[in-house]
Amino acid sequence: MPKVTIDGIQYEFNPGETIIEVASRNGVEIPHYCWHPRLSVSGNCRMCLVEVEKMPKLVIACATQAMDGMVVHTKSEKAVKGREHVMEFLLINHPLDCPICDEAGECALQDYAYRYGTGYSRFIEEKNHKPKRVKLGPYVMFDAERCISCSRCIRFSKEIAKADQLTFVQRGDRVTIETFPGKEFDNPYSLNVVDICPVGALTNIDFRFKARVWEMSATKSICPGCARGCNIDIWVRNNEILRLTPRFNEKVNDYWMCDHGRINCFKFVNADDRIDGPFVKKESQLVLVNWDEAVSRAVSELKRFKGNEFAVIASPFATLEDNYALLKFSKQILKTNNIFFIPHIKPGDQDDILIREDKTPNSTGLRLLGIDVSKNDLSLETLDEKINSKSIKCLIVVEDDPIAVKPELKNAIQNLDLLIVFATNKNKTTQYADILFPAATYAEKNGVFVNFQGFVQRIRPAVATIDVDRSLDGLAQSRWDKFGTEFDKWARGRKVNARSDWKIISQIANALGGKFDYDTSEDVFIEITQNVKELANLDYETIGELGYQIKSSKLIEEKILV
Ligand code: SF4
Ligand code: SF4
Repeated sequence: MPKVTIDGIQYEFNPGETIIEVASRNGVEIPHYCWHPRLSVSGNCRMCLVEVEKMPKLVIACATQAMDGMVVHTKSEKAVKGREHVMEFLLINHPLDCPICDEAGECALQDYAYRYGTGYSRFIEEKNHKPKRVKLGPYVMFDAERCISCSRCIRFSKEIAKADQLTFVQRGDRVTIETFPGKEFDNPYSLNVVDICPVGALTNIDFRFKARVWEMSATKSICPGCARGCNIDIWVRNNEILRLTPRFNEKVNDYWMCDHGRINCFKFVNADDRIDGPFVKKESQLVLVNWDEAVSRAVSELKRFKGNEFAVIASPFATLEDNYALLKFSKQILKTNNIFFIPHIKPGDQDDILIREDKTPNSTGLRLLGIDVSKNDLSLETLDEKINSKSIKCLIVVEDDPIAVKPELKNAIQNLDLLIVFATNKNKTTQYADILFPAATYAEKNGVFVNFQGFVQRIRPAVATIDVDRSLDGLAQSRWDKFGTEFDKWARGRKVNARSDWKIISQIANALGGKFDYDTSEDVFIEITQNVKELANLDYETIGELGYQIKSSKLIEEKILV
């Protein structure tokens, strides 16, 4: 294999690779703004200048192919001076408004100015002023003065989002970004340009001025917006989620996520309509009670029914652990196989980038457990008829809203003898519950989702519920460190009185004579791995940060995996 020497160390490379690609693959930093591993090379920022022996001038590492025997210096005096000059040029017209810039703290211009700049400017003339608040589209604001004309946003839109909506206009120091006349920068992936803009020129209108980045904690999680399960970071300050950003996972979402996920998949966690504690119906009103009263009411009410008088709606929005506990509860305690889930498919709302028409994060996980859309002739289609004929008398709904999906179900639901609902937020079904349990959202618990490709992926608590705080007292610190290291333990702000479904179900099951002996969600997961052969020998550590892919031709044949 051919070899190139960078800063005295030899690296093998594949013919066709550029110097920056070889360096980046081997962990050698060559500063850059316009180069991005997934975009075409534009070579316009000049920040990646390096010295190559036997070449008369500095070359840009992003556009120079590595050659066998080539000797590259990234830290020689000539390379360092070259970078200093580039930094000086880039900063000539820059407004230096870091104190009011959203990018401050995660800005490549700031970082490189410290690391590769001279610390002063010889430019004393008036800076070139440009518009500072240009709304390019529904989600993205542009500050033209901060733009360093790297063209990443233009190339992303054209090459990745397949929406050629941005362009440069003017020349020299007047150059700026514009949309085509009368058009908006509006596509399902527009906010990714905010992530890849190396400076604060493009900001997320939804997040603008909400927090300085160093005030927030970032927790590794999974977007619950569709079956892709994009890897994300959940950014939290004072126990409130302020933004989601994509987390690199080459095999699932690469560097990206869609705008829908980014904008819509956290606000319900902070919302005022959260179910904030357990409720039971007293004199036709849902009344807030304590956990013991709600659980004992559920236990005594459930004893009134038997076997197939129960129907249970599982949830593709809830974790594998939640659904496993529910399945075990249905089979062992309620003694019914009447368990199914409601698919949430938006036909046609899918592309070949990320977005999937299955708008749930875990339907594959449910199928893996053996929970299907329809069981024993029972599905959302037949449920009302079975309730009206009194063959189903008690319905348990976990993290779903059957009345929203099928409004005609409203009358049948009111004919039930008992409706128990587990919900994160108020919805069309919760108002009819006889017992309503507050479910923790994906951002408040540990657990696992399985995406449509069979990637088993971890979610982790990013915000605290009252229950998480209490359980912390009873957990050894080492155990806590294992299960919740990135969790903002000292979170202030509002805490919702909610619990993971598996935990609530286990408490009810144990009161009914079951053996649901779990302290943590990983205890539930370990039991799942003993029962589902595709997950054998997995634990949370093995799943890791980038997930574990189930490979099973049988599951592909059964169309459980694609
Ligand atoms: S707006 Fe940002 S990404 Fe786009 S050209 Fe300017 S600096 Fe580059
Ligand atoms: S593609 Fe799906 S999983 Fe990814 S960010 Fe969008 S909604 Fe979330």
